[in-house]
Amino acid sequence: SKPIVAIVGRPNVGKSTLFNALAGEKISIVKDTPGVTRDRIYADVSWLDYNFTIIDTGGIEPESDNIILKSMREQAEIAIETADVIIFMTDVRQGLVDDDHKVVQMLRKSKKPVILVVNKVDSFEKYMNDVYEFYNLGLGDPVPISGASRLGIGDMLDEVVSHF
Ligand code: GDP
Ligand code: MG
Repeated sequence: SKPIVAIVGRPNVGKSTLFNALAGEKISIVKDTPGVTRDRIYADVSWLDYNFTIIDTGGIEPESDNIILKSMREQAEIAIETADVIIFMTDVRQGLVDDDHKVVQMLRKSKKPVILVVNKVDSFEKYMNDVYEFYNLGLGDPVPISGASRLGIGDMLDEVVSHF
């Protein structure tokens, strides 16, 4: 069967936007306010000679802020159980925050490969300096992307399929 790739990260970092870009159509709901997608959402993706299934784990995002961490624990559990490769997404505009560290702690418990993606790098020139702090997560080289403008997506997918 096809490898499964799960996108995990805090609400509003851009998971559903990336998911839709990879799916080639608008399946996941993108909203400025966190917590709008209800169901776990799957799509088939092809890249080079590879076919895989992508999961937007944000489908189980919470309705209220005070259960964000609980929901992210559930996201992490789904990813750890079902994924062959985990894309952990952060947001360069918000920078590195405490919840990012907490999710990474959960993901580390799996032996699954985790790719650290820093989203909303809409211009490398403007935002690259802000990408370096993400080395502090201890997940290796951060992969800068812009899901909205599709910058860096090819390099990210090369990294993903290298773990199949
Ligand atoms: P999710 O909660 O992680 O699924 O995040 P969404 O995909 O719903 O996106 C949250 C917000 O960030 C929306 O307003 C998106 O338009 C915006 N967004 C997503 N990706 C990018 C990006 O690459 N650049 C910028 N500037 N905004 C983005
Ligand atoms: Mg979403």
